[in-house]
Amino acid sequence: MEKWRIIEDLCKGCGLCVEFCPKQCLKMSDSLNRIGYHPAILDKAEECTACALCAQMCPETAILIYRKVKVKSA
Ligand code: SF4
Ligand code: SF4
Repeated sequence: MEKWRIIEDLCKGCGLCVEFCPKQCLKMSDSLNRIGYHPAILDKAEECTACALCAQMCPETAILIYRKVKVKSA
């Protein structure tokens, strides 16, 4: 299941998410997004723990994190 996603065209290439990822999963893309910035990309998906620190740091709220939710049956 996908854990990490970026809304690429919101990213302004500041690099904060890359700096703060405790697992060093992220890097900046070589290509440009539609507003002319190099967006962050998930480089090591298998290392990502979905901790959401990158999403919390992002000033553009460009990163979405998906986690499994346990639902208790009645
Ligand atoms: S969710 Fe956590 S481990 Fe995954 S990329 Fe973001 S900061 Fe790194
Ligand atoms: S913190 Fe947000 S705006 Fe900055 S590089 Fe990461 S995704 Fe892009």
